[in-house]
Amino acid sequence: MDLILRNARLPHAPETLVDIGVKSGKIVAIRPNLVADAPQTHDAGGCLVCAGFCETHIHLEKSRIIDRCAPEQGRNPMAMQRVSAVKHSFTPEDILARAQKTLERCIENGATRMRAHVEVDPLIGLRGFDAVQHLARDYAWAIDIEICVFPQEGLTNSPGTEPLLIEALRRGAKLIGAAPSFDTDPAAQIRRIFELAHAHSVDIDMHLDSGDTPDPADIHQVCALTEQYKLQGRVAVGHMTRLSTMPQATLDPLMRRIAEAGVAVTVLPATDLFMSGRDQTENIRRGLADVNRLAAAGVTCSLATNNILNPFTPMGDGSLIRMANLQANCCQVSTPSGMRALFAMLTTDAARLMNLPNYGIAPGNPADFVIIDATTPEQTVAELRPPLAVYKSGRRTVTRARPILHPPGIGKP
Ligand SMILES: [Zn+2]
Repeated sequence: MDLILRNARLPHAPETLVDIGVKSGKIVAIRPNLVADAPQTHDAGGCLVCAGFCETHIHLEKSRIIDRCAPEQGRNPMAMQRVSAVKHSFTPEDILARAQKTLERCIENGATRMRAHVEVDPLIGLRGFDAVQHLARDYAWAIDIEICVFPQEGLTNSPGTEPLLIEALRRGAKLIGAAPSFDTDPAAQIRRIFELAHAHSVDIDMHLDSGDTPDPADIHQVCALTEQYKLQGRVAVGHMTRLSTMPQATLDPLMRRIAEAGVAVTVLPATDLFMSGRDQTENIRRGLADVNRLAAAGVTCSLATNNILNPFTPMGDGSLIRMANLQANCCQVSTPSGMRALFAMLTTDAARLMNLPNYGIAPGNPADFVIIDATTPEQTVAELRPPLAVYKSGRRTVTRARPILHPPGIGKP
């Protein structure tokens, strides 16, 4: 063996301490008191050890631009328009520098897998795609990045966008996405994206049903097309804030319908909270779909970051643990089991949404670990406990020191 990680608590059985043996970047043994030698050992000291976090939905190439965008005017954030107004000025070097900073924050916070949503259109061309593809190669030592290309500015109303989507797929984009609410014909965009996904044999991950009212909900069309194209388990939708506005009598059957169609849901707590309820000045709605209820109804769910330091979300640090904490706080999740479910939406459930093979702490899988300063998943979420170390394929990629208190009267003044 090359490495033994000792005294680890795994999320599904945190009461037992185990040792994890690693050889050639893969997990080869998991058991208590592993008798073996290795040139490297790491004592996890009873800390929680999970497989790397899966950041299922993030926009690297438009992060860190808030300082160059026009300020908000009134209650309407006009986020898409404010980004669109500066997009033409993005140079390859500029995109690379900003995206790299954001990616490094994600890695420091434990992400070892990522689905980067990248917009392509005549304004930005393939510059964002090229930069993120470049970063994916440069940071393969720390994280596996797959790219989902999508038309942020519209598809049916944006001539020249579709050939760019197709070119990006030809150059290695793994999925195709959508943003129908910014299209003059949302239903036509959704249909066309399914046709393109079918033609190019790729999965789909759409921005869907961001809105402050129950209707018009595009999810019904997406469920029907998912079944028509036999893409169950290969379609995800992000945001779904409309779900939070629906009465129970409408929501319950719809959640069952989403589960039955095999459509997965990603909630983006920072953006959804920031953008929701802009039609209100008091009693402002939260607009977060309740992922715990969705998961209980059988829907595969993940929580993700989405945007950092841009008009959609002018804050952020790349911490998925913080997203789970935010979701728990805003959707009033109080039980350990509820918080464990949210932790799974950063790890195992998120990996299922991404259809990742070989994910998780099990023999034969890549030795990707996050060592968290906590003993249980629920403590991690409730107390925002930080990652202390991250490993990718058996190699240490991140170290974070624990804070030390210095009370007076101990040692030298
Ligand atoms: Zn997004």
